[in-house]
Amino acid sequence: MMESRLNTSAASGLDHEHMALQADQQAKSAFFERLPAEIRRMIYVEFWKLSGSLKRHIVVQPQITSTYMENHISSSSCVLEDQNGPDSRYEAYKASALLEAAGTGDWRRDWIRRIDSNWSLHWKCEERRARQLRRPQASWSPFLNVLSTCRLMFLEAQHSLFTTLTFVFTDIPTATSFITSYLPSTFRHLEISIRSHPGLTELYYPAHLRPGPLPSIPGFSDSGVSPSHNPWSQFCAALAACTHLQTLNLAFDIRDLRAWRDRVYERSFFSDLWRVRTSGLFVLRLPEVRRENEDGKVGRPAGEGMELDYLEGRNLVDAPFVLLRAPRPDYMSVHLDNLRLSQRRMLALPAPP
Ligand SMILES: [Zn+2]
Repeated sequence: MMESRLNTSAASGLDHEHMALQADQQAKSAFFERLPAEIRRMIYVEFWKLSGSLKRHIVVQPQITSTYMENHISSSSCVLEDQNGPDSRYEAYKASALLEAAGTGDWRRDWIRRIDSNWSLHWKCEERRARQLRRPQASWSPFLNVLSTCRLMFLEAQHSLFTTLTFVFTDIPTATSFITSYLPSTFRHLEISIRSHPGLTELYYPAHLRPGPLPSIPGFSDSGVSPSHNPWSQFCAALAACTHLQTLNLAFDIRDLRAWRDRVYERSFFSDLWRVRTSGLFVLRLPEVRRENEDGKVGRPAGEGMELDYLEGRNLVDAPFVLLRAPRPDYMSVHLDNLRLSQRRMLALPAPP
């Protein structure tokens, strides 16, 4: 016998039982009475596809009211097909610099901005969202229409949303806040690309390398920041609490011009990820440890402390993830180039009268 009512118990944040009791069973609706649940599920998914992608960025968007400013959660399409694919920004930046030197292009600043983006690998999604915010009338999406039809459709459609969509995050507080707002069994697919404040990884330094006070973490208002109490540990705890995760893609980098290997002690920083479980292995994407700069300069000599500090070799035994390494943009040379461009632009300004 075909299932006629969808299981709506997974997604929460609202009193679903109360809503289910109040929901009109829509006995005269052909959609609910004639179509089996399997077909209705397929229809919901087709609606979600109309938004442009089954991957949605979750973003905090400040909104100014007449009296104060409040943060609203909003979403936008993710247009990055594969977060595990190559990051071509640095190569594109170098090519744009050569073209600019030859007088045949002026995209260099664009690529500098993209390399510096907090959305990191998802820079295209950030630019698409910015264009849509400038033209809100052109950014129709089906979500509100479907979810606001009636209580019964809301319950079914919300369950479909949370089991079908991949939720994408590019900052730690938004991800933690959103994930912990729902029942642990809510999410199936998460994609996360973080470019963290460097102070966060400093918290996990070996004690002898951190003689001074613990770094402060911008935006973290809780007192007593420590290696076991900080935005990253809270984020990892939120992930570990998800009981029905099927896929997880996590890419991590830091907003630091210095070499990755000198700034991130991987074994201690990523140790909480051993508590995260997905249906299979999830993906952790990190910068390469050894090859940092074009000229081959790295921090500590290769081999020194590698076994102790980095996710290599036997340190990956029993890891619940597959580790991918990818080249990191040479942030230092891009930063210096950006400074030169800014100085040149200042010098080009007309002198005050
Ligand atoms: Zn994206």
